[in-house]
Amino acid sequence: MSTAERAPILLTPGPLTTSPRTRRAMMVDWGSWDRDFNDLTADVCKRLLAIIHGEATHTCVPLQGSGTFSVEAAIGTLVPRDGKVLVLINGAYGKRLAKICQVIGREFSTFETEEDVPTTAADVDRLLTEDPSVTHVALIHCETSTGILNPLQDIARVIESHGKRLIIDAMSSFGALDIDARHIPFDALIAASGKCLEGVPGMGFVFARSSALNASTGNCHSLSMDLQDQHAYMAKTGQWRFTPPTHVVAALHEALSQYEEEGGLAARHQRYANNCQTLLAEMAELGFRSFLPAEIQAPIIVTFHAPSDARYSFTEFYNRVREKGFILYPGKLTQVETFRVGCIGQVDASGMRAAVAAIAETLKEMEVFEI
Ligand SMILES: *Cc1c(COP(=O)(O)O)cnc(C)c1O
Repeated sequence: MSTAERAPILLTPGPLTTSPRTRRAMMVDWGSWDRDFNDLTADVCKRLLAIIHGEATHTCVPLQGSGTFSVEAAIGTLVPRDGKVLVLINGAYGKRLAKICQVIGREFSTFETEEDVPTTAADVDRLLTEDPSVTHVALIHCETSTGILNPLQDIARVIESHGKRLIIDAMSSFGALDIDARHIPFDALIAASGKCLEGVPGMGFVFARSSALNASTGNCHSLSMDLQDQHAYMAKTGQWRFTPPTHVVAALHEALSQYEEEGGLAARHQRYANNCQTLLAEMAELGFRSFLPAEIQAPIIVTFHAPSDARYSFTEFYNRVREKGFILYPGKLTQVETFRVGCIGQVDASGMRAAVAAIAETLKEMEVFEI
């Protein structure tokens, strides 16, 4: 097999590298009315809910589409039409939350910090004191545009003390970073199949506080995005309301089995943390500087400053690393030139070392010496 034919390793935050076992689970066609498929969906939801220990308080509602569909559905379903959302922003996904509120017509305000500055509980305390009309706060847990981690637990407690509701986009952290619904109060936590659970992309899911979900009838601006309706139908029939992503569900089911076999959240976190440390150490040896300080770096994706050498261009760099079997990710910052390397997916520390070796080789070929 030539290198071009060999499947590359995706060092991207979803879609990401999946295991052959997960991919093989998609070789079966499922009928959407079939009892076996309904059992598969129910089992997936049950196992997802167990990851956050949300059995007593929350309901897992799956939804077709990419992760953003589920974020939009959560806001549209759980925020009443006369509610107001405080959106906490330190990157592109935070901005997307504000855009969603704007497009679906929910009143909102924003609080933005620099891309390397986490939102603090003190910020949120002050903002909620200043504006009592806020009903919900929307937060990105790990802002994937840089890899920065926001202090979820502290922020959640402050929001609860003000009697407000929290909506968390935990798309890139769920499954790898500990989020326990018994200790962290939230009305919605959103994630998707194709991130840290190492399934394939195509569906999201929302852990909605059951009392809030039950009280949300008629809130939603959209039929297909209405999580209350999706849940009510599924509870009654065992089926998805509209055509389910059958192969995606089957792959996620298989990915969850491997997640549990690996040792669940603790083991997944440990592997990603090793990946991240290996990556940071080996890249530092080449002279690369990471954009974030270690204290606020989540072990999910790392942003590196691009080399300052005039011979560097991301496109050529990307293409050459790609030929060696690794897919990198462009930067998403407006002010500084960067690129990103994901630590998640079916890859371990030896894979990360091989990726850095490919990067080193590429720099030599390009005669990029100034990092
Ligand atoms: C991946 C991701 C999403 C969802 O993006 P899609 O392109 O819709 O899958 C949302 N928020 C965060 C933080 C993410 O990492």
